[in-house]
Amino acid sequence: MKKMLIDQYNRVHDYLRISLTDNCNLRCFYCMPEEDYAFMPNKQLMQKEEIVSIATLFVQQGVKKIRLTGGEPLVRKDAAEIIQALGKLGVELTITTNATRIHLFIADLKNAGVKSINISLDTLKQEKFQLLTRRDQFNIVKDNIDLLLKNDFRVKVNMVVVKGMNEMEILDFIEWTKYIPIQIRLIEFMPFDGNKWNSDKLVTLQEMLELIGGKYTIAAAENEPNDTSKRYKIEGHQGSFAIISTMSAPFCSTCNRIRLTADGKIKNCLFSSSETDLLTPFREGADILPFIQQAIASKHKELGGQFSKDFEKIDTNELHNRSMIAIGG
Ligand code: SAM
Ligand code: SF4
Repeated sequence: MKKMLIDQYNRVHDYLRISLTDNCNLRCFYCMPEEDYAFMPNKQLMQKEEIVSIATLFVQQGVKKIRLTGGEPLVRKDAAEIIQALGKLGVELTITTNATRIHLFIADLKNAGVKSINISLDTLKQEKFQLLTRRDQFNIVKDNIDLLLKNDFRVKVNMVVVKGMNEMEILDFIEWTKYIPIQIRLIEFMPFDGNKWNSDKLVTLQEMLELIGGKYTIAAAENEPNDTSKRYKIEGHQGSFAIISTMSAPFCSTCNRIRLTADGKIKNCLFSSSETDLLTPFREGADILPFIQQAIASKHKELGGQFSKDFEKIDTNELHNRSMIAIGG
């Protein structure tokens, strides 16, 4: 019989997101806690062979897609070797990156069979990039998006929309899709440890659609079965856009994701308050499959069991989670 990781709500989990590191060369305010954050020491991180062995076990259990993330996955010294090794597992391999270093990895990504890449970029203005990320890397990110397109990668650009910060640029991002075959993914701002989330900073799916619909004629596009985003097309545009409405219209009923943190812990949901340590038993030589199965079995129905889509009622003091940089987005 085909092996599958299924939870108590009959959701098949075939998409693994592996964080390679919690380290990053940017300091996005919505991702990193404001107070001093100490990156994990190297020995606490899964080593290359450990990542490949654990990923192989997941693939044997029916995982068909692996996304590398972080922190910034491409600041890890052995990132190229990890990409090459995972490219041999016969699954769809992809990556989410801030694109500041991706020019150094074009050949590795191609050789590993990576076709589609998600890039984070929240503003099209250089000064604002510096404000949002506390680093001066705007031009390299923009140049690297062009480089990826020239190299025939499919490019999706993730824009976390935060009221008062960048929602006034949504239409500029949409205009960008007129001339360039990229997909813009507008992401509702989510609460994590230390990121000062409150519901007033949220721009909802509905609000974004109203804004975009005021200028363009939008048509809904077809979604993939486990899509977390709702896709849209605008006539005459080479690219498209999608909205990730985790807060106002969550998509938990079709969730197929498993997250593995850089220190080898399963998070069965982005918002789960508990984790399952795989790395310690793995290092002790134990069979970790029962831990994986138990982690999937205990997945909550919605939003880690921590809140509901009634986002105005969320009290961030009551949420128990890591910061996004430590989870792996
Ligand atoms: N460093 C890589 C990057 O920035 O693409 C990968 C890791 S990052 C944590 C993964 C994704 O999570 C990024 O697209 C980022 O914008 C998103 N993200 C981080 N914090 C978020 C938040 N509070 N709400 C919504 N999305 C967030
Ligand atoms: Fe780094 Fe990505 Fe987080 Fe920004 S969103 S701080 S680039 S991990």
